[in-house]
Amino acid sequence: MTIATPAWRRGRAAAVAATCVALVSLHGSRRDLLNAARPQTAAAPSSSLEILEVRPSFFVIAGPGGDSANVGVQVGEDGLVVVDAGSAAAAAGVLDAIKRISPKPIRYVIDTGPDADHVGGNETMANAGEKIFAGALGGGAQNAAERVAPILAAEGVLRHMAKSPAGGWPTEVFHYSRKSMYLNGEAIEVLHQPAAHTDSDVFAFFRRSDVLFSGDVLDTRQFPVIDVERGGSIQGEIAALNRLAELAVVSVPVVTREAGTIVVPGHGRLCDQYDVVEYRDMVTIIRDRVRDLIKAGRSLAEVKAAQPAKGYVGRYGNPGGAWTTDRFIEAVYRSLAKEKS
Ligand SMILES: [Zn+2]
Repeated sequence: MTIATPAWRRGRAAAVAATCVALVSLHGSRRDLLNAARPQTAAAPSSSLEILEVRPSFFVIAGPGGDSANVGVQVGEDGLVVVDAGSAAAAAGVLDAIKRISPKPIRYVIDTGPDADHVGGNETMANAGEKIFAGALGGGAQNAAERVAPILAAEGVLRHMAKSPAGGWPTEVFHYSRKSMYLNGEAIEVLHQPAAHTDSDVFAFFRRSDVLFSGDVLDTRQFPVIDVERGGSIQGEIAALNRLAELAVVSVPVVTREAGTIVVPGHGRLCDQYDVVEYRDMVTIIRDRVRDLIKAGRSLAEVKAAQPAKGYVGRYGNPGGAWTTDRFIEAVYRSLAKEKS
């Protein structure tokens, strides 16, 4: 999975395409630099991972290992903040890639949601890190809790991970709408989005870097996954996309500067505010179509047969795999039906 500009986007606004190309070429030169700095003998599993320098203070490891979520790394004098640890299978390679970005310790791991492709690497990343105040009184980390980086997540992530090994559980959870920190010279906001992809999604917003990590609320590869069993809902998903669109700032009036907020989706390529609006509109249109069909008394089978996602299936639809178009429509239907009852 790379964050290159796919063929279907080539007809889009020149400024947006130029942004993507600039980022990729920056990535290319940065990766070459990083590779050049490596000793020839140390063939690491991360050598094939895509590392993008999206801002001088912020890197994205793009979908390591195929199905893993995008991983973000904020870099500064205080150490590293990692957003989404990726899958367990990709963890060793991701950690190696992080070490190539910077030798500083990992200070925080932020989970944008409870899925294994985001939290599977939690334990590896936390164990490689160190609490920021560890050994503040001298002598280094004093106890086991200080020798690992805290894992920050919405409270529900801990609940959903109850059956997975305790080493990967979040160690700092919150149940309110915003958790904020100030590290590496910038404000970091962790913003809870209730009942969207699940009941435990957060955005991680790096305000000076102007990088906004969306988690699985935004997935440019496919229709968004609405996990109704774990508290997700189509209305919450649209509300979350609206908030994402409100937080992001577009590169106006000087479009040619190719600036503006970089929105990093859970999976897929880097986005700008226009991309978020386009995705939000797509999801909203399909929601409206399903809602109209429900109002007309159609059953789930009839709603599916009416193909409410038509016009978008070519870009976002999956005929097979874990998240088919049918499953998406079913989730929208069940979510709306649940609301009515
Ligand atoms: Zn995901």
